[in-house]
Amino acid sequence: MDKSKKLSESVIFPKGQKIINEYFIGETWLEMLVSNDSIFNCPIGNVTFEPGARNNWHKHPGGQILLVTGGKGYYQEEGKPVQVIKEGDVVKIHPNVKHWHGATPDSWLAHIAISTNAQKGDAEWLEPVTDEEYNNLQ
Ligand code: MN
Repeated sequence: MDKSKKLSESVIFPKGQKIINEYFIGETWLEMLVSNDSIFNCPIGNVTFEPGARNNWHKHPGGQILLVTGGKGYYQEEGKPVQVIKEGDVVKIHPNVKHWHGATPDSWLAHIAISTNAQKGDAEWLEPVTDEEYNNLQ
């Protein structure tokens, strides 16, 4: 089975457009499901990572909740071990906690990213996750 087949089979919400910025390693896609506004203050996006893809270390001033909808991935908070996340998992990320998320080396990952309290500001992007950090599953 090729990679694109596996991706398309998993998607509940549209996969969206390829993310093109300096804050991600590997190919990732984003479809905004709810845009940011001053009524809800809660933008929601569907994010899909190819195997090995991850975002940089970052913080959310208002926090973030991830709902894993497909595949398998990693989540890590600074100073803590890498955690494996999989379809059905809910990850609550407190405001200003430095962390990263992405796919495992051998699986894609799809998650819904809910930006809570978005009026507190945009994500603060930090340094890339090194291969050493990424491959440090204990
Ligand atoms: Mn995040």
